Amino acid sequence: MRAKSTSNYLAGYPIALTEQVQRLIEQDLLTNMLLQKYPHAHTVRSDKALYDYVLEVKDLYLRNAGQLSKVAFNGKLHVIQHALGTHTNISRVQGTKLRAKREIRIAELFKEMPLEFLRMIVVHELAHIKEREHNKAFYQLCRHMEPDYHQLEFDLRAYLTYLEATGRSLWSTSAVSPLNA
Ligand SMILES: [Zn+2]
Repeated sequence: MRAKSTSNYLAGYPIALTEQVQRLIEQDLLTNMLLQKYPHAHTVRSDKALYDYVLEVKDLYLRNAGQLSKVAFNGKLHVIQHALGTHTNISRVQGTKLRAKREIRIAELFKEMPLEFLRMIVVHELAHIKEREHNKAFYQLCRHMEPDYHQLEFDLRAYLTYLEATGRSLWSTSAVSPLNA
C-alpha cells in the first residue's frame, strides 16, 4: 500500500480516479496534461484586479444579489477542503435598514494559476451569496455560472495534490514579473 498524501484534496472522488491522479504524478505526466489544457497564468494579480474580475462575473449572473464590500487575496487561508476561499456575510442594522456586508477572500495561491481555476473558485464563493451550504442548489448555481465547474474543480484538486507532493508551481510568474517586488 502506498502512503496517502497528507491533505486529501481528492476526498469524495472515486478511488479509481484518485489513484489515477497519483499515478500521473508519479510518472510525471500530470504536468503536461495540465499545461496543455491550461497553458497560461491569468493576469489578475492585485486585489483591485480581483475585485473587478469578481464583479464582472457577479454582474452577469447575480446582479441583484447585493453589493460586495470587500474582495481580496488572502495569504493566510489554508488551502484545505472548503477553504480555498471564504465568504462572509455580516448583517448589521444601519438606521432602519438591515445591511449585509459581504466579503470574499481568495487564497493567495490562486494568483499563480490559470484563469479557469480562479474562475472556478470565484464562482464557488459567489454562489455562497445565495446558498450557504454545499447542497444541490449550490452546485446548480455553480454550473449555471460555469458549465465546466465540476471538471475544473477536479483538475484544480489534482493540481493541488501535485503541488503538495512536489512543491513546484506550474504557473509561477514571480520570476518574470517586475511588479512582484
Ligand atoms: Zn464553499
